[in-house]
Amino acid sequence: MKHIIDVTNLKKNYGEIEAVRGIDFHVRQGELFAFLGPNGAGKSTTIDILCTLLKPDAGEVSVDGHPLTEGQTIRELLGIVFQDSLLDRLLTVRKNLSTRAKLYPKSGIRLKEAVRAAAQAAGAWDFIDRPYGKLSGGQKRRADIARALVHTPKILFLDEPTTGLDPQTKQNVWQTILGLQRREGMTVFLTTHYMEEAAASDYITIIDDGLIAAQGTPLFLKERYSSDTLRLKATDPQKLEQFLTEKQIPHTLNESNLITIPLGSTKDAIPILRVADPLLESFEVLHGTMEDVFLAVTGKEIREDA
Ligand code: ADP
Repeated sequence: MKHIIDVTNLKKNYGEIEAVRGIDFHVRQGELFAFLGPNGAGKSTTIDILCTLLKPDAGEVSVDGHPLTEGQTIRELLGIVFQDSLLDRLLTVRKNLSTRAKLYPKSGIRLKEAVRAAAQAAGAWDFIDRPYGKLSGGQKRRADIARALVHTPKILFLDEPTTGLDPQTKQNVWQTILGLQRREGMTVFLTTHYMEEAAASDYITIIDDGLIAAQGTPLFLKERYSSDTLRLKATDPQKLEQFLTEKQIPHTLNESNLITIPLGSTKDAIPILRVADPLLESFEVLHGTMEDVFLAVTGKEIREDA
């Protein structure tokens, strides 16, 4: 698949602070790309450069074949949803969208049609004639996404699009985002603190301290940076623990008397279960998660309240 974004040796300093220290990555056309990193890692700086809001100090960037010097062309290719909404609270969603659409006369699409298509794609059609300020959190986020779609961009940038939403609304907005990517073929560039969203993306790049710390598909990263674990509940935990120690099987016993054993692969559980069988009450094999990956790669827990 074609690289719609290509970044080579990108650098950006703020005075003494080296925010981005020479990063390489690419985004393929039509994929859901997750850009992850702890706070202060350099995500916003990188995104602001890609969106032509900030000039880099060094490096090459190409967006759909255009260098950053072609700022206007690039901006027309991008839809951007920032964490802070840019919509006018007093105006209806429709008025907000049409005001925005008027900024793109060159696109040639009829204004009303563009507004309708954007609102429908973002799931904002049902409340298009309500003032933005009167909408619920999830409706506001849909309206924000609709605004970003009104000039039919090729790439949608979403900065933590579901942060602050209740679980049900979060799920609804997430389904809308997936729909845009899968049904409309939109390339989606996402930052998120929710690892289940990262796990559902096509490709992940993790930045830490201004450098790329890891990249790959969720499956690749999980295989590389996390491991499966076997969790055992024993009829006599102390006895099982002593038994595992004698057999030199690495394990930990937690406060709830559950024994955890790291596995190289799921199948490694079988011989352990065989020998532990007489003392077992129950067991489960837990797969490595994206949280484990993030912790292993950055040494930091992802903050969900950010
Ligand atoms: P992230 O989005 O991953 O939280 P940022 O790109 O915002 O990271 O920040 C990267 C580093 O650059 C941090 O150390 C941050 O404090 C610093 N930084 C970001 N913006 C500015 C700025 N305008 N002036 C000075 N330092 C900044």
